[in-house]
Amino acid sequence: MTGKPDLPSNAPSHDLFDSDRFHDECGVFGIFGHDDAAAHTALGLHALQHRGQEAAGIVSYDTRQFHAERGLGHVGEHFSSPVVIARLPGHSAIGHNRYSTTGETILRNVQPLFAEFAFGGLAIAHNGNLTNSHTLRRRLVQQGCIFQSTLDTEVIIHLMATSRYHQVVDRLVDALRQVEGAYSLVAMCDGTLIGVRDPMGVRPLVIGEIDGATILASETCALDIIGAKFLRDVEPGELVTIDADGIHSIRPFAAAKSRFCVFEYVYFARPDSVVEGRSVYAARKRIGAELAIESPIDADVVIPVPDSGVPAAMGYAMQAGIPFELGIIRNHYVGRTFIEPGEQIRHLGVKLKHNANRALVAGKRVILVDDSIVRGTTSVKIVEMVRQAGATEVHMRIASPPTTNSCFYGVDTPDRDKLLAANHNLEEMRTFIGVDTLAYVSADGMYRAMGEERRDPDAPAFCDACFTGDYPIALVDHLGGDNVAQLSLLAERGR
Ligand code: 5GP
Ligand code: MG
Repeated sequence: MTGKPDLPSNAPSHDLFDSDRFHDECGVFGIFGHDDAAAHTALGLHALQHRGQEAAGIVSYDTRQFHAERGLGHVGEHFSSPVVIARLPGHSAIGHNRYSTTGETILRNVQPLFAEFAFGGLAIAHNGNLTNSHTLRRRLVQQGCIFQSTLDTEVIIHLMATSRYHQVVDRLVDALRQVEGAYSLVAMCDGTLIGVRDPMGVRPLVIGEIDGATILASETCALDIIGAKFLRDVEPGELVTIDADGIHSIRPFAAAKSRFCVFEYVYFARPDSVVEGRSVYAARKRIGAELAIESPIDADVVIPVPDSGVPAAMGYAMQAGIPFELGIIRNHYVGRTFIEPGEQIRHLGVKLKHNANRALVAGKRVILVDDSIVRGTTSVKIVEMVRQAGATEVHMRIASPPTTNSCFYGVDTPDRDKLLAANHNLEEMRTFIGVDTLAYVSADGMYRAMGEERRDPDAPAFCDACFTGDYPIALVDHLGGDNVAQLSLLAERGR
């Protein structure tokens, strides 16, 4: 034994909610009033592919009926065919990219969902995670509702169907007032496109415009791809309806302090997107610069772990005045399947995706920059690869605080027992990863990079639960009741 702490357990969790765990790391898109509604939706989803790669779906409406197409895999695998797009006629459409990690990804779990109500048809797609969906679902099943999927989005459909209100927006508001969680959703019914962000605005949603048609999308990169103009963000707690008369806005929820997900800036959103008025790329670069100020080290070269570590590494290198080099190259064509060689090739897993650029690494003192460490498996392999390529020293710098808590609001972080930083101190992690030094940016440093003076513990500007254990929305399904304080305490004790 080398004295390395054990890798966090990868044994399957038998958590009550694991078997049909609702989680989505998704992208949504909607368009109202365009001749090419479905084709634009497919392109928008293509730009949002990073938000979910398991499946994609589009529902269109042609003023008489709804049309749906859903496919497993990447958007292009199903929606690049003109034949498929031709099966989606109409001037309005909504679409969804899905990512799920447990259970089989089956077509009936692919959004948008569609249902016929007393008022007519409604298609709905959602990015985020409802934290009381199991509790609500149990109640609805007892009332006689029959569920067709394991999606939390379907809970919203049944709440709408059983609502005592008549108008579609009233029913939706009635449903959403009963749910807890993070959601950015798009819905479409006869003559109307609807967009909503949860009261804290944890997930992004923007409004755009093209050729007089209005668009809703998770990120601005989905507007750019079709040449649409960015109008504004849907605001936290805002519900917009888009119809032939234009865009209408209501605020049906009690006012809450906005808590946008800081991890969207750290990792999740695309660097060419502007979310909540900030460029994702610029934010990442500034985190890198803060990291260089907080944790400098004498070295010859700064190397990012591609692609997610690139902007932060640039920021670090510029701040530190150390050359930036692409010392690790990523293969972008790694597919789902590959021909396995007869003999085990050492570290094939990581080498499929990354390779050291030997000439840039050999004989050098290297600073490696990545956006985050989750389980630590990527870091261990990358560090070993860089050492084998001849690095004399390897220093790891992480452009986010230690990931110590699971996300229950739509990012698919593993359970706490598998998070390296939840179970090990900095020195143990340094030994485990095999680096000469290891440093993370502080929470205050990350907030400074976002233009805040520091993290205000009484009123943080973001949801940063994955880094702090401060969960702003009740986790009803997980501990029962209003348990935010309880859970923060648990997180504190478990540290
Ligand atoms: P680890 O190997 O430590 O488990 O994962 C760290 C790597 O995963 C980092 O390079 C980071 O960019 C990436 N990562 C961080 N969060 C997520 C996530 O939510 N989903 C996916 N697919 N990758 C992530
Ligand atoms: Mg990465």
